[in-house]
Amino acid sequence: MAIILDGKALAKKIKGQVAAQAAALPRRPGLAVLLVGENPASQVYVRGKEKDCDECGILNLGCRLPAETTQEELLARIERLNADPAVDGILVQLPLPGHIDEGTVLRAIDPSKDVDCFHPRNVGEMMVGDPVCWPCTPFGVMELLREYGIFPAGRHCVVLGRSNIVGKPMALLLLRDNGTVTVCHSRTPDLKEQCLQADILVSAVGRTGLVTADMVKEGAVVVDVAMNRNADGKLCGDVDYATVSEKASYITPVPGGVGPMTRAILMRNVLAAAKAHQKQP
Ligand code: NAP
Repeated sequence: MAIILDGKALAKKIKGQVAAQAAALPRRPGLAVLLVGENPASQVYVRGKEKDCDECGILNLGCRLPAETTQEELLARIERLNADPAVDGILVQLPLPGHIDEGTVLRAIDPSKDVDCFHPRNVGEMMVGDPVCWPCTPFGVMELLREYGIFPAGRHCVVLGRSNIVGKPMALLLLRDNGTVTVCHSRTPDLKEQCLQADILVSAVGRTGLVTADMVKEGAVVVDVAMNRNADGKLCGDVDYATVSEKASYITPVPGGVGPMTRAILMRNVLAAAKAHQKQP
């Protein structure tokens, strides 16, 4: 039976560290989360981030904007936040309503306040070296692996999914830590064969039941990034947990695995941005 990679426990520890360091800064860090419209899932995520800010002593400087907010209004709001010295991090909750261009909005955020690491300049920094922050979800996965003494060096890592926010940066981080990385996507013809090569398998697709036990090598480390709803409306991942956990050496649960780590790393990214803005070590 696999050992559970307990993201909830590690996230709590990280948030405690952030709170202690935030309290020691000359000025409290500030995060502005912008939510446009009333997407129910987004509202849940934003409430979670606000709660995390309270726990970590980070000022919550965000706001909720009506669904009919124009792109110009949103860009003007971001410009004000860029100029505000109390704001260390700006996060625009995605997805945005259809009339607003996501790329334009993400490019408008001051890269030094881009705590999601979505701005093209930070994506470039990520390619060539060490950006101020890494994207929260894949970096959270790396921290979770490290906590359990799992290192990608010399191991075959297979990533399912190639999105800009999860799959691609995940592959880059595994590569940076000397893993041999294969990235699979919807056009990969032999997914099972690819998965069976994995010492470390990371699934970030968004399809319940995609990864079954026959696709997993005995003793592999399995990380399930996905947050799906099953037929009963219950939160679940891509991995068939009941059967895969019999074969894997380590596995993340859903919920309680990668999700809490994403939130904790966001808080740490805000702290890192605040330290950089305040020129603190
Ligand atoms: P996304 O943008 O929809 O990307 C999904 C990726 O999966 C795409 O690259 C797609 O390939 C690939 N894919 C689709 N069907 C496939 C198949 N049958 N076999 C192999 N690959 C397939 O999603 P995302 O934003 O990366 O999120 C992925 C999942 O992670 C979702 O469940 C999301 O809710 C979850 N998530 C969780 C967290 C967290 O904190 N735990 C954070 C972010 C996202 P193509 O590129 O070819 O279309």
